[in-house]
Amino acid sequence: MAIEKILIANRGEIALRIHRAAHEMGIKTVAVHSTADADAMHVRLADEAICIGPPSATDSYLNIPAIISAAEISHADAIHPGYGFLSENAQFAEIVESHGITWIGPKPEHIRTMGDKVEAKRTAGALGLPLVPGSDGAIEDVEEAKAIARDIGYPVIIKAASGGGGRGMKVVNSEEELETQMQQAGSEAKAAFGDATVYLEKYLGNPRHIEFQVFGDGNGHAVHLGERDCSLQRRHQKVLEEAPSPVLATAERDRMGNICAKAMADMGYRGAGTIEFLWENGEFYFIEMNTRLQVEHPVTEMITGIDLVREQIRVAEGKPLSFKQEEVTFTGHAVECRINAEDPRTFMPSPGTVSWYHPPGGLYVRVDSGLYHGYKVPPYYDSMIAKLIVYGQTREGCLMRLRRALGEFVIEGMKTTIPLHQRLLEEPDFQNGNYTIKWLEEWLAKDA
Ligand code: ADP
Repeated sequence: MAIEKILIANRGEIALRIHRAAHEMGIKTVAVHSTADADAMHVRLADEAICIGPPSATDSYLNIPAIISAAEISHADAIHPGYGFLSENAQFAEIVESHGITWIGPKPEHIRTMGDKVEAKRTAGALGLPLVPGSDGAIEDVEEAKAIARDIGYPVIIKAASGGGGRGMKVVNSEEELETQMQQAGSEAKAAFGDATVYLEKYLGNPRHIEFQVFGDGNGHAVHLGERDCSLQRRHQKVLEEAPSPVLATAERDRMGNICAKAMADMGYRGAGTIEFLWENGEFYFIEMNTRLQVEHPVTEMITGIDLVREQIRVAEGKPLSFKQEEVTFTGHAVECRINAEDPRTFMPSPGTVSWYHPPGGLYVRVDSGLYHGYKVPPYYDSMIAKLIVYGQTREGCLMRLRRALGEFVIEGMKTTIPLHQRLLEEPDFQNGNYTIKWLEEWLAKDA
């Protein structure tokens, strides 16, 4: 069924991103916003805007009754959740559908399965994805944990089944530490996520983070759109992403991508998804699946020429995928820099009012941001204020253009992480693509 009006249940650059795709398809948009976001760019550009609560996200962007009411009042026939907030809340997806509103996202049961990491790992294994060696499901018994750890070898990592955002993980280096760490992990998980379930896996020493973009039509057809390398992380948060990965050969991309696509086809997966792996010594190890659009989706768009949000909307309308696997081609190289309103050395948040704004331009330079001159960055939400995405025919050309674009970017009135990206670009290891998930933090520590 054709969608005529989309309610965007999000804020910031991603709300704007969704609005743009919708308008290019002739679809009207409804922005919902907290009182703190009344002057936000996505609110200004949407066809309609509805205030859904006070600044606190719990009372606004996570307020399900307020969002459903806004959809009903505005006669929106679909909801796009963006990323974060309610995007991976299976119950919200069910509520949306039970109101006769189209959910622009995966089937609720798949969101639920992948949201529980023990379930996700079991499902991934059954679908033929390679796993990190570890416990087969949740683990309660210390003796059993010891036996498994002895078998796979130390160090091991204890992870919370309901964990997220890089929290709820404990690295264990020897058998003596195992019991206390397991108990601690359990009680911390209980406190943070309301669920004490933990599982155990091998701790990989120095892997890269490589993830595959997948897309399904919900009827047994699925494709992959290649990988993104997101190894440059600070506190398990991605800082810069690129596609393709500097270390993956074409044959490997095809092999692993096809395994992912087949898994999604077998599952009957619907919409956009990302399968995350750790990659070490040429081997892939599944860690989790995200059942939503990712922050870093534009790098995939740049090298494939496919608009992922447009595709999400089409699939939600019940249309088949607009391309076949053999029509997907990977051309050139793309890098995304996440620009945060933070001190570039201490990473202290630095919200403020934009007193001067000049985004870079030119061929193959894309800025996804809700910033404008005079905009006041509210202190209540994520500190990411812009994404700079640059494309080049080669990786080297892409980095040259990125250097040029970062140099043009002016955001005054607050500190930003632009200087961090500029310093990073001068590093030979980065220039050579020679980095793992540990690299950025080690580099920052050296520098401090
Ligand atoms: P979250 O959902 O909290 O983001 P993930 O399972 O995706 O948790 O893991 C987040 C990060 O933690 C990974 O990108 C990696 O840096 C690290 N990590 C997770 N599992 C392992 C492991 N088995 N070995 C080494 N590092 C790991």
